[in-house]
Order: sequence, then C-alpha cells, then structure tokens
Amino acid sequence: MSLAPEADRAYFAAFLDLRGKRGLVVGGGRVAALKAEALLRSGARVTVIAPEIGERLSELALVGAVRLERRRFQPGDLLGAQIAIAATDDPAVNEAVSAAGSALRIPVNVADNAALSSFIMPALVDRAPLQIAISSAGASPVLARKVRTLIEAAVPFAFGRLAQLIGRFRSASKERYPDPEARRRFWEEVVDGPIADMALSGNERSAASALEAKLRERRDFTGFVSLVGAGPGDPELLTLRALRVMQAAGVVLYDHLVSPPLVDLARRDAERIYVGKERDNHALPQGEINALMVRLAREGKRVVRLKGGDPFIFGRGGEEIDALLEHGIAFEVVPGITAAAGAASYAGIPLTHRDYAQSCVFVTGHLKNGSAQLDWQALARPHQTVAVYMGVGALAQICQGLIAHGMPESMPAAVVEKATLPEQRVVEGTLLTLPDKAKAQPIGPPALLIVGEVVRLRAKLGWFGPAKAEFGTDHVISR
Ligand code: SAH
Repeated sequence: MSLAPEADRAYFAAFLDLRGKRGLVVGGGRVAALKAEALLRSGARVTVIAPEIGERLSELALVGAVRLERRRFQPGDLLGAQIAIAATDDPAVNEAVSAAGSALRIPVNVADNAALSSFIMPALVDRAPLQIAISSAGASPVLARKVRTLIEAAVPFAFGRLAQLIGRFRSASKERYPDPEARRRFWEEVVDGPIADMALSGNERSAASALEAKLRERRDFTGFVSLVGAGPGDPELLTLRALRVMQAAGVVLYDHLVSPPLVDLARRDAERIYVGKERDNHALPQGEINALMVRLAREGKRVVRLKGGDPFIFGRGGEEIDALLEHGIAFEVVPGITAAAGAASYAGIPLTHRDYAQSCVFVTGHLKNGSAQLDWQALARPHQTVAVYMGVGALAQICQGLIAHGMPESMPAAVVEKATLPEQRVVEGTLLTLPDKAKAQPIGPPALLIVGEVVRLRAKLGWFGPAKAEFGTDHVISR
C-alpha cells in the first residue's frame, strides 16, 4: 500500500541514483513534462506514456531526450522501470499506476496526491552536485516553499561549482589524509578560506591549482577547545558563534543542563560525550572532564565544551581553562545567555528597573556543609534584585535568611523552573509564602530564584505562554 498522508509523518529522506535507469512518466501534459525533466536531470532514461502529448513533451521527444508511447497506460508498463511518476488528470489512471507500483514494489509518485504515492518529491534547491531537498511531509507545501525561498537566497549558486571542484580532489585528499579527522580539517580550511573564495568568484582554474598546492604541503592539525555557553535551554538563544563552532567541532562534551535539541545542533558525525553534572552518579568528576578535554585536543580534535548558560557564570569555566593552559592547549570562550537573563526575560521580570531596582546580584544558593554561606547583609539591601542559582534546595533557608537580615516578608519572589523551555513554570509569592507554595507544587531542576520588587512586574510583562505549562492552580501562575 502507499503511504498514508498523515500530516505528522516524517518521511525517510534519500537521494536516488537513477543514472542510466529507466523512469516512467504517465501523462502528457505540463506537469508530466516537469516530472520528466526532473528525471532527466538525474540521468534517468525516460519513457512517457499518454494517448495525447503536449507541446513540451513533444519537443523533448523530438530531440530524443525521452521515448514517447502514444497510448493508454497498462499495469505491465511498470516492468523494467526503477521509478514511476503519474501526472494525469484521470484519477483512475493515477490509481492504476499507484496500484501497479505497489504490486511490483516500484516507487511511485502521483502528482499532488501523497495518499497514492510511495514517495514524494521535495522542494529542491538545486546547486548540483549540491542539492538541498525540503519536505513538510505534505503538512504544508506553502511552508516548504517558503523555506526553499529562504535557502535559495542564502546559498550562492557558485556552491555547485565549489562542490564540483572539491569532488575532483576527494580521492587525492583521502590518500593525503587517511585520518578522517585530519581530512575534515583540511577541507574545512579549504571551504572557509581563500581557495573557496576564488572558486566562488568564478576563478576556478586558480582555485584548482591552489588546491593542488595545498594538498602537497602536508601539515598537522592541532587541537583546539571552545568553551561554549549554550544558553538557558531554548536553542534559539544560542549565539551565532556558538552555532558555528558546534558545527565545526569533532567532539562535543556536554552536561545535564544542555537540552537535547541543542546537542543535536552539533555536526551529525560529531562525537557527543555526556559528562553530566558533578553530583550525579553517571557524571565524570571535574578532574576527569579536564583530562578528557586535554586528551582529545592533543589528538588534534576540535573540541566543544558545551555548558548551560554562560561558561563564566557558576560554570567552572575558569577551572577548565586552567587545565588547558597547563597543557598549552589553545582555547576560546564563547559567552552564552545566563539562566538569570533567560529566566527574567521569559518570565517577564526585568532584573533592573528605574523605579524598583538599580542593581542586580547573582549568587549561588548551593549549600556548603548544610548552610548557605552568603553575605546576607549585602543581599538584603533595598532596591536590588537577587538572582539565586542552585537555590531551590535551600529555598526556605534563603527566604528566612533574607527576612532575618531586614528584607520585608512581603518582598515578592519567584522561582522559574526550566526557564525558556516549553515546560517553563513560574511559582510566585513572597519571601514568606514562596517556600510553602514551592512545596505544594514540587519544583524540578533546573530552577532559578528571583527576589525583588521587580517580580511584581510579571503580572504586566509576562508574555511567554508555552502550551505545556498549564497547571490550573492558583499557586502556580504560568505564563
Ligand atoms: N552557567 C550557568 C549556571 C550553571 S549553575 C548559567 O550561566 O546559567 C546551574 C544553575 O543554573 C541551576 O541550578 C539553576 O539555578 C540555573 N539554571 C540553569 N538553566 C536554567 C533554566 N533553564 N531555568 C532555570 N534555572 C536554570
């Protein structure tokens, strides 16, 4: 049977090698002609069957590009074909082609009819040999076309020529750099450097000889570590630079704060290593994480150490760099949006405000020997917002501590759970009421505590409304 046209189905994406293979087109009109041309572009030998043939197909037949058979379709016509496309305005014929394809296990596409098709044809950005295929699995052809327009504008036509040039040197590069990692680095330098610029500007001959010369000069690629802030969770909040280094890295070390969609932005063939968090069993101790980074960089790899939020805010980024420095390994730091900034924006709580808060402090509420070692006096100051990382475990103690050092009991406070993610929840109260509210609606990690007058602004400024955060209790105000 053909695939059901369920809108949420994801198709298996593949590119077929049809060079020299027989492709059948049933139909003689304009759409059939377009399909025949698409098959021809992939090198197929095309037969067209239709009782009446339109202008374009007649032209193609005249120059010998396709073979015409002016007659009605019969199921046996599919024998010997590798692929078939039906584009007639007769539903019975389209159905017959589809049924014959199912019986013979030959892939069939019926134009504009996913239900009768065992494969669909994507919207295509064609920079052959570079091809970008886009499908919405039939859910929204209009959206797929929009994506295509975006990509058409973003991918220079000359990329096709560049891909061709690179293709010519592929086997030479394999000989020169048998190690796939070194080979990838070689090609990355080519694609990001002057040789590609030359090819893209149309100077292909110079590009080819520069490429030949570059292949001759054997070189070693040294390792490099990028300490990358992944932001608070929403992948859209990654920086452009973070995305770029993630796509260049051969290895990505990530911890529990980094959500799976973010890790997926790494290159498909990149090695992904979960190093967890310090206090869980599956995690590597910090010393081992450092040693692992050093070892991978020494192997010549480009390593991304992906950390939640910003690497230099409660991220132990400094300690990891110490280890790299000790071993003379080159590194960079890519900042990220820290949890307090993400939580504040997505919960509608400005961290500073002309009228309510002229300063903002970030502290960790992580307990040392059972008590939070905080400078309470400084935290309890008026006109200040306090953002507490890792503070939910000690929520009650922190609220009591602030009250004991002079903050009013009525000071607004909120816990933002899984900030910026579809599961974001906000529990809001005062220093007095928040601990009990948080107990009634247990808070899962990661969560951030924000204390200050600015929390009140949430009622007006909250804008983020993920579908998953509806709880319907008056303790939890989800927005
Ligand atoms: N370097 C990180 C912080 C790491 S400490 C950064 O800059 O954000 C871990 C703490 O960050 C968690 O205990 C929690 O308090 C906070 N946090 C991280 N991601 C969060 C998120 N999506 N929502 C709420 N809090 C988060």
